[in-house]
This record gives sequence, C-alpha cells and structure tokens, in this order.
Amino acid sequence: MLIRGLHGMICDECARQAYLITKEAINGDPETDRKAPDFKSVPKPQEIKSFLDQYVIGQEQAKICLSVAVYNHYKRLNQDYDDDAVEIEKSNIIMVGATGTGKTLLARTIARMLQVPFTIVDATVFTEAGYVGEDVESILSRLLQVADYDVRQAQRGIVFIDEIDKISRKQDNPSLTKDVGAEGVQQSLLKLLEGSIVNVPPKGGRKHPDQDYVQVDTRQILFICGGAFDGIERKIAQRMNTQVIGFDSVRNKKKIDKNNLLRYIQPQDLKSYGLIPEMIGRLPVLCTLDSLDRETLKKILFEPKNSIVRQYVKLLEMDGIKLSFDNDALELIVDKALECKLGARGLRTIIESIMMPAMYSLPSSSKRTFKVTAKFASERLKNVTL
Ligand code: ADP
Repeated sequence: MLIRGLHGMICDECARQAYLITKEAINGDPETDRKAPDFKSVPKPQEIKSFLDQYVIGQEQAKICLSVAVYNHYKRLNQDYDDDAVEIEKSNIIMVGATGTGKTLLARTIARMLQVPFTIVDATVFTEAGYVGEDVESILSRLLQVADYDVRQAQRGIVFIDEIDKISRKQDNPSLTKDVGAEGVQQSLLKLLEGSIVNVPPKGGRKHPDQDYVQVDTRQILFICGGAFDGIERKIAQRMNTQVIGFDSVRNKKKIDKNNLLRYIQPQDLKSYGLIPEMIGRLPVLCTLDSLDRETLKKILFEPKNSIVRQYVKLLEMDGIKLSFDNDALELIVDKALECKLGARGLRTIIESIMMPAMYSLPSSSKRTFKVTAKFASERLKNVTL
C-alpha cells in the first residue's frame, strides 16, 4: 500500500520500519524519558473535586478523600530523594459503600483526568498462586500494559481494586482449615500494597518458571480499594452497642443515625468482616459512600454530564426526535429504584424497560417529539419485575 504525502509516497513496509526506528530512538534516549508530571501543572484538590462533581452526584466525603489522595500522589512523585529529607509515604485508600453508589464511577471519572497510568482490576478473579484463577501480580501486568510497557511510568501509576470485600475471610469458617481462596489472596496482596520489588509476567497470565519477568517496584504505586462490604452495618452496630454502656450511653444513643451506620465505620469493623489486620494497616485512609436517597437518585437521572436521561435524549436526537420526561415520570422511576435497592444501578434497568418499545417503534414513525409521562411509565412498569 502506498501512502501519498505532499512531496512523495511511502509504502506500508517502510512506514512500519520508520515507526520502529523512531520508537526505539525515543525509548532508548533518557532525555526523552517521560518524567513525573510537572507539579505546577497538576490540578489542586479542589479542582479535582469540581471535575468529579460534573459526573458524580453527592458523595462529598469520598470525593474529597480521592482528590487529596491523588494530589498527594503527585507530590510524592515529585519529591527529592536526599538522604536526610523527609520521605512522603503513600496512603492507600479503602472506599466502603453499598452497591451502585458510585465507587467504580468515581474511579473511572478520576482516571479521565490523571496524568499517570491508571487501571481498574477486580479482586474476585484472584486466587492464591497455583490455584485456578489469576495471580495478584497480574494487577501490575495490567498497569504495565496501560503504560505501554514503560516500567518507570508504570511504577508511578494508580490501581483501583474493586470488590475487595470478596476476598475477605469467610466468617463461618473460623480458620480451622486454611481458607485458601480469600486469606491467601490477602496475604499476597500485602506485598504489593506496601511496596516491594515484584516479578511480573509482562503479558499477564500465570507466573511460569520459563517466563521472562519484568521487575516492578510498587513503592510509588497508589492503591485504591473499593467494596460493598454487604452486611457490615451489623458489625458496626454490634461494636457500637458494646461501646455505649455506662453513664454516657443514653446521650450517645440519641446521636446515632441508625439509617446510616456506615458513617461510623472503624478499621476494626473491616477486621470483623474478614480483612486481615495487616491488610487494613496498609490501607490507612478509610472513606465511606453514602447510600443514595430520593433526591440524589433523582439528580443522578439527569444532572451528570453523561446522565442516563441525556443519553436517551441523544439516542433519539439521532433519529430527529425530541425526547422529554415528565417530572411525575421521573418521580416514579426513582420510587421504583428505591424499591429494588440496587442504588443508582437500578435506574438504568428501569428506564431501559420503560423505553424499549418506544426505541423499537419510534425510528420508523413520523413523530418528531416523544414525551414520557407517568401514565406511560407506570403502564410499562406494570409487567416488569425487578
Ligand atoms: P458501585 O458502587 O457498585 O461500584 P457504580 O459506580 O458501578 O457502583 O455505579 C453504577 C452506576 O450508577 C454508574 O454507572 C452510574 O451511572 C450510576 N451512579 C452511581 N452512583 C452515582 C453517583 N453518585 N452519581 C452519579 N451516578 C451514579
């Protein structure tokens, strides 16, 4: 294939060669090595938070936590390593919040504005080395992939480990026998979280004696963990009940907001849930996400930059049809979402089922406007079980 330029042509083979030569030249030259992001160009915590505000509704505490952590991460990357200088250590984060409250959304959104490699991994796929599943080192393989196999760049990255609660020790197995699935994974994660030099199979997969490894230093990598910790409220309540004995008990009890027990979470609750203490110690920043109330759910429907309502409006706009929702219809959708207790995730399912027949018939019709009324929505929802 010949590619025509202004003054001549180049064939695909020569173009490929030229690409390889340039790539080698760039990677081999320390002058052009991509440095840590310049600290002056890094957004301040308040700027990071206002970026998050565009996509995530509510969750103030988690947003502040994340913004500060990311900002400090940049600071740490820019510190000088003199012998007697104060060394800033990393503070990995753990986010606890019910399903569908925006943990993954926060991580995804912050990834859009980061100037360092970022990856999201799911803790459920990990098993102890030698068992069916993935080794925890594959987290670093992913990071290497995002960093285009530039090790120095990957060592400055941020990793979000989702579903961290799924590797907690099983409660009904008080470890008379070894809990292979969960505790072993936590043990192997410790090494990564704290910072050590890890042998990573660059293309992912199992570690294999014949394979070449890349050594990755995890000291600078920031880990953010997230999990729903379903039922942890019971542990919190238990702990608080045992605490409020004595003179203060009556007064303290009044202050406790029973509907939002998660707010009172302490590291020891994570321990009773089944995270090992060493692991909790390596995740010093603990923040929680609030459960979503009516008002927040309603805002989530249409306020975020890519909210679900906006997405549907855009979909039908492509057919030249103007879509709108009645306020009553929105209220109805929120009611239904509260009922099915899936957080904001339920909203999408509900709107999908309301809109499906319309999405089927509208493109072939001559209608130029379409309004979703409460009557239309409730008709549709009658037959839907969520
Ligand atoms: P989880 O907490 O289970 O990780 P997700 O972040 O995956 O939940 O949220 C599921 C979906 O719900 C997201 O894709 C997003 O559209 C919506 N959502 C959840 N919480 C919020 C929020 N606070 N603001 C805006 N949208 C949200």
